[in-house]
Amino acid sequence: MESTKEYLLSVIRNIPDFPKPGIQFKDITTLLADPKALKLTTDLLTKPYQNERVDVVVGLESRGFLFGTNLAQSLGASFVPVRKPGKLPAKTISESYELEYGTDQLEMHADAIKKGDRVIIHDDLIATGGSATAAKKLVERLGGEIIGYSFIMELSFLNGRENLNHQKVESILII
Ligand code: AMP
Repeated sequence: MESTKEYLLSVIRNIPDFPKPGIQFKDITTLLADPKALKLTTDLLTKPYQNERVDVVVGLESRGFLFGTNLAQSLGASFVPVRKPGKLPAKTISESYELEYGTDQLEMHADAIKKGDRVIIHDDLIATGGSATAAKKLVERLGGEIIGYSFIMELSFLNGRENLNHQKVESILII
């Protein structure tokens, strides 16, 4: 198992100082380009939830769309996108969240989740947990229940996991 994770780590490209100085950007386009890694990643994201009833996987724009849809398919769940403002065409609800400088917003279609739906929030990477928390609030406003979170990577030094305050936070690679 450890060698599997080492393999995945080896196909993720680190780009220093992108998009601004001091950030080590984790580029998954190189993972997507590798068929073996593509399958491994979907399998490892699915594993912690395969014995649970999951109604919806919510994926965060934009890299959360890439594996979120695969994860939904392999769990027999539906997929719902959470997007940046102004992108979704039908009626939306929105949540603001804090960035290092200023605030940002995420939106979801107002009819995307039904009351009582059991929901997983997925993204490629958790840093501070701000965007995943905004997604959680959107889901809960529509009556959904968060059964857990799912990430490919977790930047543990930013303590995003603590900010989510949930017993089930699954990350394949803790960096
Ligand atoms: P946060 O809301 O702080 O947890 O940030 C997570 C979001 O920002 C995710 O959608 C990530 O794709 C993106 N992100 C933050 N830091 C990085 C990083 N070092 N490399 C790649 N993506 C990142």
